Amino acid sequence: MPTKIILDENEIPKKWYNIQADMPNLPGIPHNPITKKAVEAKDLAPIFADGLIKQEFSTEKYIDIPPEVREILTLWRPSPLLRAERLEKLLKTPAKIYYKYEGQSPSGSHKTNTSVAQAYYNKEDGIERIATETGAGQWGSALSFATQFFGMECTIYMVRGSYEQKPYRKMMMQTWGAKCYPSPTTMTNSGREILKRDPNTSGSLGIAISEAVEDAATHENTNYALGSVLNHVCLHQTVIGLEARKQLDIAEETADIVIGCAGGGSNFAGIAFPFVRDKIEKKNPDVEIIASEPAACPTLTKGLYAYDFGDVAGLTPIMQMYTLGHDFIPPSIHAGGLRYHGMSPLVSRLHADGLIKSVAYHQNECFKVAVDFAKTEGIIPAPESAHAIKAAVEQALLCKKTGEEKTIVFNLSGHAHFDMSAYEAYFNKTLPDYEYPAELIKESLSKLPHIED
Ligand SMILES: *Cc1c(COP(=O)(O)O)cnc(C)c1O
Repeated sequence: MPTKIILDENEIPKKWYNIQADMPNLPGIPHNPITKKAVEAKDLAPIFADGLIKQEFSTEKYIDIPPEVREILTLWRPSPLLRAERLEKLLKTPAKIYYKYEGQSPSGSHKTNTSVAQAYYNKEDGIERIATETGAGQWGSALSFATQFFGMECTIYMVRGSYEQKPYRKMMMQTWGAKCYPSPTTMTNSGREILKRDPNTSGSLGIAISEAVEDAATHENTNYALGSVLNHVCLHQTVIGLEARKQLDIAEETADIVIGCAGGGSNFAGIAFPFVRDKIEKKNPDVEIIASEPAACPTLTKGLYAYDFGDVAGLTPIMQMYTLGHDFIPPSIHAGGLRYHGMSPLVSRLHADGLIKSVAYHQNECFKVAVDFAKTEGIIPAPESAHAIKAAVEQALLCKKTGEEKTIVFNLSGHAHFDMSAYEAYFNKTLPDYEYPAELIKESLSKLPHIED
C-alpha cells in the first residue's frame, strides 16, 4: 500500500457535508445577547453575509461548494493523507497511524478552507471590508489571504500576547494587504473598557472578538468573520474529512479512531463530521472520535454544557455549548489557537450526546511527541496540532498493550514555521505546564447569562 494517498484536483468535494441534517439532537437555538430572545436570521444580517446565515441554520444534508471557491481551493487541495510508518516503528505499535495534512495551504493551516468561502459570500453581498480577530495569527493570515482574492479590505484584531510573540504572522497579513492591530486597541469601546480595567493585559480571543464584532456592527460596508465555532465554519471544514474518507477507501482501510485537536472545534469538526455520519448511519458504528484539548483550557473535558456568550464583552449571540465562562482568560500556552473558553455548539452537542469523546494534555508532553513526529515524519507540527498527535500516540501505545491493529487517523491542522519560538521555549525547558485553573473557571462560570427556554 502507498504511504501517501493523493487525490486528483477534480476530487475536491463538490459539496460540503452538513451534520445538522443527521444529528440526533440539534444544539439549542442561539439567543440574542441583549433581548435574550432566540436569534433569527435577521439578527445576524448586520454582520454576516446572507449565504453564510443560510448555512448557519440549514438542515440540508449536502450544500454545493461554489465553483469560484473550489477553484481557489485547488491551490492546495486535495490535501494528502499520509501513513506515519516511521512514527509507528518508533512507537513499536501494531496500530496504523494516518494523518491528513492541512499545512500545505498558503497560510499554513486548515483555516483557508473556510476563509475563502467566507470571503466569497461577503463579496456576493457587496461587502467591502471584513473585520476579524486572531489569536495565534493563523486565522488572520488565512482571512487576509482570502479577502485579497476578492478585492476586499481586511482589519484584524490580534490578541496582544501573540502579536508580540509572533511578528512574522503580522507581516504575512500585511503582505496579503490586511491591517493588523494588537488587541485590546483604543479603537473600540470594548477595547478601551478592558484597557481601563487592565492596561497591561495580554488580551484574549474573547476580547478580540468583541472588538471585531463592534467594528463590523458600527460600519455599514463591513462584515465580521469568525474562524471557528460557528456552524458554517464547521461546514466549510468538512472537505477535510470527506477527502480523508475517500483516501482511506483507496487505502482499503476503515478508521477505528479519528482524532483532531479542538480550540473552537472547526478542524476537529472538519475531520470528524463525515466519520460521525458513518457512525450515525451505522456504516462504521464503532468508530471512536476524539477531540484533544490543552489541559490549561479543557473546554469539552472539564467545561459546563450551558448557554454562554462567545466573547468577553457579551456582544455575540448566547450559544449552548461547553464553556469555561466567557470572561475566563486561559493561561498563555503556546497553542494560541486552542485558547478559547467556548466550543462549537455542534461539536458540543455531539459530545453531550456521547457521539464523540475528549481528552486533555499539558503542553510539554505535546511538544515531546511533536519533536518525535518531526524527526520521523519530517513535518514540524503547529503547537495546536501537537495535541492531536499526542492523542494519536496515546491510542497507538494502548494498541501496543492490547496487540490491536487499529487504524488511527488524525488531522495535522498546520505546521509550526511561525511558531518556532514555542519550540525554543520547549528546548530551553522554560515552558510551564499550567495546572487546571479551577478557581478562575469557577468564578467565571458563576457569571453565565440566564436564558429562559
Ligand atoms: C486555529 C487552529 C487550530 C484550532 O482551531 P479549531 O477551530 O479548533 O480548529 C488548530 N490548529 C491550527 C494549526 C490552527 O491554526
